[in-house]
Amino acid sequence: MSDPWQECMDYAVTLARQAGEMIREALKSEMNVMIKSSPADLVTVTDQKVEKMLLSSIKEKYPSHSFIGEESVAAGEKTVFTDKPTWIIDPVDGTTNFVHKFPFVAVSIGFVVKKQMEFGVVYSCVEDKMYTGRKGKGAFCNGQRLQVSQQEDITKSLLVTELGSSRKPETLRTVLSNMEKLCSIPIHGIRSVGTAAVNMCLVATGGADAYYEMGIHCWDMAGAGIIVTEAGGVLMDVTGEVLAPQSMLPSHRWTI
Ligand SMILES: [Mg+2]
Repeated sequence: MSDPWQECMDYAVTLARQAGEMIREALKSEMNVMIKSSPADLVTVTDQKVEKMLLSSIKEKYPSHSFIGEESVAAGEKTVFTDKPTWIIDPVDGTTNFVHKFPFVAVSIGFVVKKQMEFGVVYSCVEDKMYTGRKGKGAFCNGQRLQVSQQEDITKSLLVTELGSSRKPETLRTVLSNMEKLCSIPIHGIRSVGTAAVNMCLVATGGADAYYEMGIHCWDMAGAGIIVTEAGGVLMDVTGEVLAPQSMLPSHRWTI
């Protein structure tokens, strides 16, 4: 049987490359940084330009499809999650890295049909690493098949997480005390790359044993989620339940 979504996935890879090229070009020039939800939640003209390019390209080719994009939502657009083929986009994941030229910045595209993840594309554009996952067909990075780590002993684990962008004292205290508890188990270490999508892809490669973060959005996970599961990993919410795509919606945003 032919794969109805393969053409969409090929197009997503092409668009992610194009977006990555825009981001690499923008890294060479001066940036105008704006603030979103907190002084550490940043956005630039590049985030908006890249999202516009991705949305207009997809809309032109697939006019019947739906979209959820980080910057469109930030601009006040409503998100309605239906059974229709839906593209969930983070044009620049790792905007703080981008602003500082810290070399981990990703374009994330997730594709969901009937609320099921069909494929994900994460392009870590400074490293030139193209991560892809297609339901039932495995996960790859630059064509190489990915497999999560087999480590089951947390004391031998390397974890990835982020401090997040909230600077509220109580939130910071919770985030730091979670890290302290983990380190005291003890575990081998904690790393932060600065983008949820790349953190998740690192789990897919087996380079990290697990990633956790609270307060991230659907567009942070939609691309990398299926890359992790297709590499043999699992997605869970904080209760340990398997994470369903509908719980990735902005209205279900986890907070601490
Ligand atoms: Mg973003």
